[in-house]
Order: sequence, then C-alpha cells, then structure tokens
Amino acid sequence: MGEALGIMGGTFDPIHFGHLVAAEEARLQFELARVIFVPNGHPPHKKDYDVTAAERRYEMVFLATASNPGFETSRVELDREGPSYSVDTLAEFRRRFGAGTRLYFITGADAVLELLTWHEPRRLAEMCEFIAVIRPGYDLRRLEEALGADLMARCRVLAIPGVDISSTGLRRRAAGGESLRYFTPPAVEQYIGAHRLYADLGAGASAAG
Ligand code: NAP
Repeated sequence: MGEALGIMGGTFDPIHFGHLVAAEEARLQFELARVIFVPNGHPPHKKDYDVTAAERRYEMVFLATASNPGFETSRVELDREGPSYSVDTLAEFRRRFGAGTRLYFITGADAVLELLTWHEPRRLAEMCEFIAVIRPGYDLRRLEEALGADLMARCRVLAIPGVDISSTGLRRRAAGGESLRYFTPPAVEQYIGAHRLYADLGAGASAAG
C-alpha cells in the first residue's frame, strides 16, 4: 500500500497548540508520512469577523510548524485565485502525489459538520477520507446526523482530550492585551505582538464563542 498523507486545512487565525497537537496525533495514529498544513487563502464560508490577511496567517503557520520534520506548510490555497475550495486543493494534491497515496483531510469537526454545504462534497469525499478533530465533550451524534451514513463512512474522528484552545479565544485574549503564552508557540505569540494582529478587533470577534 502507498504512503498516507494528512492535509490539515484551516483558517488558522491564529494557529495554536490545539491545531498542532491534533496534527501530531493524526500523524501518529493514522501513520501519516507527513502532515501538510494548508491555510486557506479566501475562506469559502463567510466569517463573523474580519479574517487576517492570508500571508500573515500563512507566516504564523510556517513559524509554528517549522521545527517538526513531520510537518509542512503549503501555499497552494494562497496562490490560487478565488474561494479556497477544498475539492480543488485535494485535486491538486492528488495530481501531485498520484493515485497510490492515501489522502486524509484533517480539520475541525464543526467544519466537517457542514460538509454538505461545501463545493462538490461527494467528489471531495472520493479523493480523500476526513479526520474530524473533536474538542472535549463533543456530541458525535451531531456529526452522524449531519453527514448521513455514506459520508460518515469516509470520516474518522480524532479526539484530543484535555486540549480546548480555539482561535476565537486567542483573538479575544490578544485584543484584551492578555498573554498567549502556552496557547501557541512563542514565535507565533511574538509575531502577533510585532504585527499588532487582533489589537483592533471589531465587536463580532470579541463577542464570538
Ligand atoms: P471554521 O468554521 O473556522 O472552524 C470550525 C471549527 O473547527 C472551529 O472550532 C475551529 O477551531 C476548528 N478547526 C478549524 N480548522 C481546524 C483544524 N485544522 N484542526 C482542528 N480544528 C480546526 O473552519 P474553517 O477554518 O473555515 O474551515 C476548515 C477547513 O475546511 C478549511 O480548510 C476550509 O477551507 C475548509 N472548508 C472548505 C469549504 C469548501 O470547500 N467549500 C467550506 C468550508 C470550509 P479554531 O477556530 O480554533 O481553528
């Protein structure tokens, strides 16, 4: 059997230890040769806050992943025009790595929950399996009900016990001038401070979940 690769998709605004722990756990549990982080260029679904420029999010992901030889960061969604549809990204990786490589698209369970609203979800599900990352206390029945039996059969679940960090929480902390220490790697914390990211957040971000 060919090798398996993880494609870690997200907005990563900002990246944090929850993402990194999930990617490393996925790499080990699913015996992935490596995990390629793919920050989206233009998130396909509208957000309730102003998303940070893609280059800044990419740089933070790069800084956070550089020390792990099992991780890579890809510009594929930054260098492509238009909305960052995962189906186009997976088609690109499928072309690059050939039919013999198993591809796993790793992302948050609440994003997978909306899979049926994504662009060409069934074509996407033919190109990869999904690894849905759940936070502590997540009710899996939500995922099963939203996806139905056929798509659920293409979906693995990865629980990260004890890690309950969110990008929303980090943006809120940064906006309030609180420390991000132990939430994200020091290089990312310094980058956020140096570029004053999230310092002037609108009401949407500071109020969000
Ligand atoms: P989101 O809705 O911002 O996030 C939903 C939940 O998943 C949040 O709790 C989020 O936590 C978590 N999450 C997001 N990425 C994660 C990751 N890689 N590992 C662990 N948890 C993660 O999700 P999004 O960033 O917009 O979308 C996730 C991925 O799905 C992206 O690659 C996006 O491009 C793709 N997507 C594709 C389509 C499409 O093709 N039409 C549509 C929607 C999404 P944090 O906020 O802490 O990350």
